Amino acid sequence: PAKREKKPNWLRVKLPIGPEYAKVRKLVDEYKLHTICESGNCPNMGECWGAGTATFMILGNVCTRSCTFCAVATGRPNEYDQDEPRRVAEAIQLMQVKHAVLTSVNRDELKDRGAEIWYQTVVAIKEVSPTTTIETLIPDVKGNWEALYRMISAGQEVVSHNMETVERLYRRVRPQAKYERSLEQIRLTKEYGKRTKSGIMLGLGETEEEVCKAMDDLAKNGLDILTLGQYLQPTKMHHEVIEYIHPDKFAFYKEEGLKRGLKYVESGPLVRSSYHAERHVHV
Ligand code: SF4
Ligand code: SF4
Repeated sequence: PAKREKKPNWLRVKLPIGPEYAKVRKLVDEYKLHTICESGNCPNMGECWGAGTATFMILGNVCTRSCTFCAVATGRPNEYDQDEPRRVAEAIQLMQVKHAVLTSVNRDELKDRGAEIWYQTVVAIKEVSPTTTIETLIPDVKGNWEALYRMISAGQEVVSHNMETVERLYRRVRPQAKYERSLEQIRLTKEYGKRTKSGIMLGLGETEEEVCKAMDDLAKNGLDILTLGQYLQPTKMHHEVIEYIHPDKFAFYKEEGLKRGLKYVESGPLVRSSYHAERHVHV
């Protein structure tokens, strides 16, 4: 890998403060919720939490997988909490969240991949807060399409599944995932009739050609919305940042994605899959 450069200016962001931030913080603690914003040390917490948006992680905070970019702990998860759908829904109602993003760890040890809790959580939110729109950022169901259909049939507006990186880097970055299988999951989600979304992190050593190939594949498999952002290393133990991608290059990729027929591309150094997610509901 190339020598690592210093973090450029465009990645420096303001610290999270303000009353809205404090309100979200308090509810997240009170309801014992997990957010990907915190576990991923996301640089946008000030902006998103300040606007009352957070990404909730359901099904616990221990994952059966070991993606090398991810700060979530790997291990054998505990029994899951049957009461979680209610708590998440109540917190979202209290926060008056207009658009909620839900995600989860991978629960490969569960036969249904956690689909039932996914389904119940979306239904519970819609019950107490019918005007809240929902994006479900679902895991790789490992080809269990029955579980996929259960997860995506609960009335959510957007279904996302992140490719995370280009095909060549899967073994190093997402060792338990398969590029083709993730593409198929997106295709089936689209065929089922849902608005589809995916995300790719840049700076892991991918080439321009490989990113364009990934966008080709995604467009062919029915993807509507794509997010492209700079990968940042959560701790020294994680995959290193090979490159800081210049904002102009992000703009270039956006154009390339739109040319390939993607309907909406959010591309920039600070873009995360849940960044500006509320805009993706109407795409
Ligand atoms: Fe959380 Fe996503 Fe916003 Fe980051 S971009 S703070 S992960 S909602
Ligand atoms: Fe992290 Fe998701 Fe990979 Fe689990 S499957 S290690 S939560 S990125």
